[in-house]
Amino acid sequence: MAYKISSACVSCGSCADVCPAGAISQGDEQYVIDPAACLDCGSCADSCPNGAIAPEE
Ligand code: SF4
Repeated sequence: MAYKISSACVSCGSCADVCPAGAISQGDEQYVIDPAACLDCGSCADSCPNGAIAPEE
């Protein structure tokens, strides 16, 4: 399991700043989470002003 960023991402970068694992980086069109590095802590989801981050189904 890992968290995933949806297309609602506006590339503000808030999530990358709070991720304790450094799993979030800026992709071509939006921020992306490396599922191999994600610790499933949920910090990024709480930080997103757009509600774009949720646990992967
Ligand atoms: Fe990083 Fe936690 Fe978000 Fe995973 S759930 S990307 S470890 S902040």
